[in-house]
Amino acid sequence: MKLSYNALIISGLIISVSPGCTTMPEAGTTNPFFTEFKTPYNVPPFEKIMARHYMPAFEKGMAEGRKSLEKILAGNEEPTFLNTIEPLDTMGSLLTRVSSVFFSQSQANTNDSLQKIEVEISPVLSEYSDEIGLNPKLFRRIKSVYDNQSKFNLNDEQKYLLENLYKSFIRNGANLNPQDQDSLRALNRELSVLTVKFSQDVLSETNNYRLYVTKDDLKGLPESVVAAAAQAAKESGQEGKWAFSTQRPSMFPFLQYSENRELRKKLYDAYCNRGNNGNEFDNNKILASIVRLRAERARLLGYKTHAHFVLEPRMARVPENVFNLLNSLWGKAIPVAESEVKEMQNIINSEKGKFNLGPSDWWYYAEKLRKQKYDLNDSELRPYFKLENVRDGAFKCANNLFGITFTPVKDIPLPHPEAQAFEVKEADGSHLGVLYMDFHPRESKQQGAWCGTYQSHHVLNGVEISPVVTMVGNFTRPSNGQPSLLSLEEVSTLFHEFGHALDDLFHRNRYNQTYIAWDFVELPSQLMEHWATQPEVLKSYARHYMTNDPIPDMLVYKIKNSSYFNQGFETVEYLAAALLDMNYHTLEAPVNVDVQTFEKDLFRKSGLIPEIVSRYRSTYFLHMAGGYDAGYYSYIWAAVLDNDAFEAFREKGLFDKSTATSYRKNILEKNGTMDPMQMYVNFRGREPVIEPLLRNRGLMQ
Ligand SMILES: [Zn+2]
Repeated sequence: MKLSYNALIISGLIISVSPGCTTMPEAGTTNPFFTEFKTPYNVPPFEKIMARHYMPAFEKGMAEGRKSLEKILAGNEEPTFLNTIEPLDTMGSLLTRVSSVFFSQSQANTNDSLQKIEVEISPVLSEYSDEIGLNPKLFRRIKSVYDNQSKFNLNDEQKYLLENLYKSFIRNGANLNPQDQDSLRALNRELSVLTVKFSQDVLSETNNYRLYVTKDDLKGLPESVVAAAAQAAKESGQEGKWAFSTQRPSMFPFLQYSENRELRKKLYDAYCNRGNNGNEFDNNKILASIVRLRAERARLLGYKTHAHFVLEPRMARVPENVFNLLNSLWGKAIPVAESEVKEMQNIINSEKGKFNLGPSDWWYYAEKLRKQKYDLNDSELRPYFKLENVRDGAFKCANNLFGITFTPVKDIPLPHPEAQAFEVKEADGSHLGVLYMDFHPRESKQQGAWCGTYQSHHVLNGVEISPVVTMVGNFTRPSNGQPSLLSLEEVSTLFHEFGHALDDLFHRNRYNQTYIAWDFVELPSQLMEHWATQPEVLKSYARHYMTNDPIPDMLVYKIKNSSYFNQGFETVEYLAAALLDMNYHTLEAPVNVDVQTFEKDLFRKSGLIPEIVSRYRSTYFLHMAGGYDAGYYSYIWAAVLDNDAFEAFREKGLFDKSTATSYRKNILEKNGTMDPMQMYVNFRGREPVIEPLLRNRGLMQ
């Protein structure tokens, strides 16, 4: 996951939380945000920053921004890049500084005061960014610079920035006449109400359903699952029974282990019909309206369809490119899924089950197949993945690839007492940036793992500002005298976030505003994951925490093999959902669909096999209702990129210096300042291809 703040302030993307705003008393001159930090490497002086400093700093930051905006707009001379775009880029420096610290801290070190500020500040920031993003005078100036750009002798970075800035205003409706702007606002309002209702309905449908079972129906279930189900039943007033819900963490263990075929089907059917029960939480009409309104909005803004609107600033650019990818993967994955069906049917037949594998049987027989073919035991692996060894393994990879080093720094402010700080240096010893790592869960921290920046690379008045990056995770804590021993998944997560960190550390952008394409942002992180499980890399860092012995070959082999398990199913199930999303969002206005018919027709035409249901069906496809609309494809888009990019290293050598340098120069240094496909082609010598992904998932037949 990747957090980014500075771009949000200008692009108007901050989501408002709730209305209302209060003003905090002025904190005087001691507010650490009001002066230069004067710390090593200009990191935030965390120990001096109190909750009471944030509000005044936000307010002063916005006031400064407004003053700068007035100055830009007051100029009578012809708008130029120098008198309009550059001051616009630097005008939010205090606001960017306080936002970076505040939002990082409210994710990783929150408390009641910060939570209160977050609720207060979100709508205020959102209003502020609308003030800029919808300012007609500012738009006229930007448009003038954009239309006359050939006069200004702009370099590539400036052209890319201008193009994206201009388009973001257009996409916000800045170019519409007042009447159309009113229609746009009405459409946006209606859409936001409907998408909230859609997700609340899914939540209600999920919460309202429970499958209660008795003791006889627990056969096959692991103890921990039984205990959790007993607790769940007790909580809903049915003590003495066992309850399962359609929430994935409750449902999947049941589908995987329960020996009762009827009940597996009952639970899975309930899951698949959420939002489709003809009751007050039915989402069929709501989704149809969402799709209709999005198509209308796209037309109003001058786009053919909603997908054309969404994809314009992304690497995919147009729906045809997404369809090409999804369809070619589909053709490869279906036969593999069919052969998985055969393998599982063989198990059913050998157990004298007189039935054909159904959709709700998949997890149960896949688990049997996994045990037969790919068994990998978590507790066997963990002793080889001591946190410090894994971290140093990631450092070593970066050192082998790019020559950079990581030196622990003492006497530097830390975002939290548990965090670690490293100075990152180039091979010649010069300073590159600071990397914080904050590994373990605590109450004040959000779940998951992410990477963000306290300071992003840019150039200010000719001086290069170096990045301050933070990697945050929720990795297993040390306990009972045992060090922190990671699961294989946690190892991948650590390498993943480290890949984001390298991206932030290597950026060479001049301006604060960068535009990293949404479907490109996971390339650096997912690429890094590949090194974590390469046999020769594992052999060097995965050492037993007690004996220091390297990981045995048998385990290395099992790790590699496990990446092929159930891939036909996973890919088909995912692609079905991605196709559903793209098909809805490439309908041209006026749109009038019957959701159930649309879905059924689509899957019949595409040849989805009867043993697999789309990972999400229309009436509970939350990604599609908001946030990942015409965007669910991006997971596999990024997977194509990282597999193909890693292939470049496999061809030339895992740590080939010239490939690493090319990757750094062409992608990491340029990310956000150049067209992503062009960056990729400059690195790879051609556009990405799907074969490496197919090979790594065992889908080549
Ligand atoms: Zn990520």
